[in-house]
Amino acid sequence: MASWEDNIRKVVPYVPGEQPKEKNIIKLNTNENPYGPSKRVLEKAVELENLKLYPDPAATELVDTIAAYHGLNSNQVFVGVGSDDVLAMAFLTFFNSGKKILFPDITYSFYDVWAELFNIPYETVAVDDNFRIKASDYYGENGGIIFPNPNAPTSIGESLSFVEDIVKNNKDVIVIVDEAYVDFGGETALPLIDKYDNLLVVRTYSKSRSMAGLRIGYAMGNDKLIKYLNDVKYSYNSYTMNLPSIILGKESMLDDEYFKETVRKVIDTREWFKAEIEKLGFSCPPSKANFLFITHNTLTAKEIFEKAKANKIYVRYFNKPRIDNYLRVTIGTREEMETFLSFLKTLV
Ligand SMILES: *Cc1c(COP(=O)(O)O)cnc(C)c1O
Repeated sequence: MASWEDNIRKVVPYVPGEQPKEKNIIKLNTNENPYGPSKRVLEKAVELENLKLYPDPAATELVDTIAAYHGLNSNQVFVGVGSDDVLAMAFLTFFNSGKKILFPDITYSFYDVWAELFNIPYETVAVDDNFRIKASDYYGENGGIIFPNPNAPTSIGESLSFVEDIVKNNKDVIVIVDEAYVDFGGETALPLIDKYDNLLVVRTYSKSRSMAGLRIGYAMGNDKLIKYLNDVKYSYNSYTMNLPSIILGKESMLDDEYFKETVRKVIDTREWFKAEIEKLGFSCPPSKANFLFITHNTLTAKEIFEKAKANKIYVRYFNKPRIDNYLRVTIGTREEMETFLSFLKTLV
């Protein structure tokens, strides 16, 4: 190894779910929303002008629209290139005490990657045998806390009082609640941001808003937290939000009817599909997300994963301790789920 290699920042990157090049597949592996964005968004997309200009570095139109949608002031909203960008910024901004930050052992697998990348010490806290997070495990001294609610890949949503319990027992550190899936039946911690200045709530356009390709995420918290996030952003790249994201992200928020209708369809399909697979010997925790975390009483997850893939159906398999006999199945359209169900019936 050349000596300059000693001083390279070496990281093990996050591995996203596969984006297959293959055509005519049923894609249930990365929690996208099958319905696509509102027509209003698509119509607006063809009208985009002014690509020659730098975008508004503050993404004011988008920030104002998101703030109005949630009944907040604009200085309580920070936007980024997907919630991954928002979360990475938040790690960089808030987790600097040198003490260990805490997150569950079964959770979004990007958290440990950011911690490693930014040299933030961390400790994972085991969820219980039913994959539930225990609030009291987070009472001890720490450098900050992050967890998704609903959690991924377990799909389990905890109550507002559960989140408040953790936030109020950790007033000296920042608690980040990653609400990537909250629109599918979870309970949001948003009402707590005025009460607790150490709480940051993070959302994404990628799942419920069906706009994963555009890359928009946002954080909500008190104006001080948002200012600190913006200071870091402007020290790194002033123009994280491109012009199409600002304009189309705003348009999506303005069509609430379409948003609610597609979210409702995903939830209805999820509940129907869950009942059907339970008849086949599958079980899964109650889901508050756009996916189910399923296991079978005789077939192994790996076997199902491989056979499904051979049949052009992609689901997510995690070769990791505790969850290697589970599959994370994104809820597609009713038709896609019917095809997957027929496949599972032939398998069982
Ligand atoms: C999908 C997901 C994200 C990232 O979403 P993007 O906005 O597409 O970057 C963050 N957190 C969790 C828990 C997710 O599942």
